[in-house]
Amino acid sequence: GSCLYLVATPIGNLEDMTVRALRILKEVDMIAAEDTRNTRKLCNYFDITTPLTSYHDHNQEIGGEKLLSLLRDGKSVALVSDAGLPCISDPGTDIVEKALAEGFAVVPVPGANAALTALIASGLNPQPFYFFGFLNRNKKERRLQLESLAKREETQLFYEAPHRLKDTLKDMQLVLGNRRIVLARELTKKFEEFLRGTIEEAIIWSEGNEIRGEFVIVVEGNTSGELEEEEQLWASMTIIEHVDY
Ligand code: SAM
Repeated sequence: GSCLYLVATPIGNLEDMTVRALRILKEVDMIAAEDTRNTRKLCNYFDITTPLTSYHDHNQEIGGEKLLSLLRDGKSVALVSDAGLPCISDPGTDIVEKALAEGFAVVPVPGANAALTALIASGLNPQPFYFFGFLNRNKKERRLQLESLAKREETQLFYEAPHRLKDTLKDMQLVLGNRRIVLARELTKKFEEFLRGTIEEAIIWSEGNEIRGEFVIVVEGNTSGELEEEEQLWASMTIIEHVDY
C-alpha cells in the first residue's frame, strides 16, 4: 500500500546496488528520479521496468503533488537520486515532509553514500563527525560558512565540484588554518584515490594537477594545536591500485 521508499543507488560501482533496493524498485508502482535519463540507464542495467517520473529541485511543487496523489491512491513510490542517498545534498526532504504530514509511511532503503564511505577510510577520527555538504559557491558566503565551523572539534565532511576544489582548499587554509585533510576521489570507481595530508599540501597538489572527478573533502576538526611533523602525511601519499573496485 501507500509507502514512500527512499532508495539508495550506487555512487559509481553498480555492484553497490543492494538486493533489497532492486526488489523495491521492481515492486513499486512508480520510481521518482532526480534525472530520469540517469535512472533509466540504471533500470535498464538491472532489468527494472517500473515507470519513471521526474522529481528534482526545480519541480518540487508539481512533481511532489504528483507523488502525493499516487500515495493517496494507495500506490507505492520509490524516490532515487542520481547517486547515493536521496535527501543527502540531493532532492527529497520536501516530499518526505509532505508524505509524513499526510500520514504515509516513509521507508529508508540504505546503501551507498559518498560522505560516510570517504570518512571510514580517511584515517581521520570517524566520530564525532559533522556533515556539511556543499559550501556556498560565493567566496564571501563560503568563508562565512567556514568561519562558523572553525571552532568545531568534529571531523568535517564536505562535497565539492572539481572546478571549485582549489578555491575551496585555499579558503579552508585561510579560515581553518593548516590541518590534516583527506580528499576522497572517485569513490568506488576504477580510479578511486585517497589523498591524505595537510591542507597546505593539498593546495600544492591541486595547483600541480588537473582536477577531475568527484570529491569528498574530509577535514580534521579543531585540535587547537600545531600540526606535528608526523602528521604531514602527504609526502607518503600513494595512489591505491584497486584489484577490486
Ligand atoms: N546523495 C549523494 C550521497 O548520498 O552521497 C550525494 C549527492 S551530491 C549531489 C554529489 C556530490 O557527492 C559530489 O559532488 C561529490 O562531492 C560527492 N560524490 C558523489 N559520488 C562520489 C564519488 N563516487 N566519489 C567521491 N565523491 C562523490
